[in-house]
Amino acid sequence: MATKYRAWFQCIGGCLGQYRLSEVIYSCPECGNLLEVRHNLKALRERSPAEWKELFDTRYKVSAWPYGSSVWGKKELVCPNIDNENVVSAYEGGSNIFWARRLGEQIGVEDLWVKQCGNNHTGSFKDLGMTVLVSQVNQMMAEGKPIRAVACASTGDTSASLAAYCAMAGIRAIVFLPRHKVSFAQLIQPLANGALTVALDTDFDGCMKMVREVCSKNDIYLANSMNSLRIEGQKTISIEMVQQFNWQVPDVVIVPGGNLGNISAIGKGFLMMRNLGLINRLPRLVCAQSERANPLYRSYLNGFRKYKPLRAKKTLASAIQIGDPVSINKAIAILKEFNGIVEQATEDELANAAARADRTGLLNCPHTGVTLAALFKLVDRGIIQSQDRTIVISTANGLKFANFQLRYHEGRLKGISSRYANCPLELPAQYDTVRGAILTSLESKV
Ligand SMILES: *Cc1c(COP(=O)(O)O)cnc(C)c1O
Ligand SMILES: [Zn+2]
Repeated sequence: MATKYRAWFQCIGGCLGQYRLSEVIYSCPECGNLLEVRHNLKALRERSPAEWKELFDTRYKVSAWPYGSSVWGKKELVCPNIDNENVVSAYEGGSNIFWARRLGEQIGVEDLWVKQCGNNHTGSFKDLGMTVLVSQVNQMMAEGKPIRAVACASTGDTSASLAAYCAMAGIRAIVFLPRHKVSFAQLIQPLANGALTVALDTDFDGCMKMVREVCSKNDIYLANSMNSLRIEGQKTISIEMVQQFNWQVPDVVIVPGGNLGNISAIGKGFLMMRNLGLINRLPRLVCAQSERANPLYRSYLNGFRKYKPLRAKKTLASAIQIGDPVSINKAIAILKEFNGIVEQATEDELANAAARADRTGLLNCPHTGVTLAALFKLVDRGIIQSQDRTIVISTANGLKFANFQLRYHEGRLKGISSRYANCPLELPAQYDTVRGAILTSLESKV
């Protein structure tokens, strides 16, 4: 379908070269910097903000293929030149924003919300970007480009997502995982979806090096977030959150950061909305890191004047166990623009933050635990105040990390005091014993 909207790759460092989205290119040939997807804003501005909002609202979760997906419902702002028949979608986005009323009351923030991005097809927010990347590949293959497979390095969720979307389209997927460093569910997902799954005796950063080399030499397309197609899908989180609040902008958005594609994407989404007049102010962005994998936090402490990659240590927040984030420059630029904050959480803080919030009806993954711990700290310091509309981005479904929760409640996580542990009472099937146990339990606080 012909459209006046147009998007292309361009260097984030200011070089002027433009590259088609159907080109196999991940970094600037002039300076080596990452590329980003740019849009023809002039064409987009021909539609008024009110018309865009109405269009997106009409499509939201209801209308015909592929617009019922909340990513493709915003197709013109995401990836306008894909033919609808080449789109590979599982109806992603449109996830609930949970009003964390009880948790908010406990910490004194009335307007606290948790964006449940784990309620996507493969149980994490990675689907939002992967639908865009795999659709673009599907279109390139339909046009006869010699792509033999799509590959990624992953801390568990990217590989699950890539495997599923490739399986939907009948494209070969190859995933590189750090051996024994992803959850059981995360390992099962690419296996079940038929991806060639390679477990390497290294960490994520080591897998990343390997996949770059494999892709550069073998007609294999790289699906990591240095490929900025994924950022275009991820940025719809921002648009969708604003849409869910009837196009009002929240005050604070908190997101966990590992490879830092997502903090960049969320910023990009807000900037694009402002550019098009859909919103007229920006929220404060907070990026939350594990204290054991915190290169961005360290750079933040010196005002982003210095940055050094590091060797990430083992953390329960395994999806963000990254010491050399690919999107560091994008993330720093975004944080500067949004008066951003970087906060960190220890293992004890992230596990207890997740469990505390679980007590109010959520089921959190450890990365959301990092985010919640950062929230608690910023509230304590008075940076987030009671009236601030605050959205915590929950990045993965807690069910993917059942082992983390089980070990927490059994008190088996090393170095962590499980303050909210709740274990099954193992009792004989005898009425008096059971009744006694129930009454004792009812005397303690919820
Ligand atoms: C990928 C991922 C993140 C971090 O996103 P980045 O773009 O790598 O910073 C956080 N949480 C979960 C569950 C993830 O899968
Ligand atoms: Zn460049």
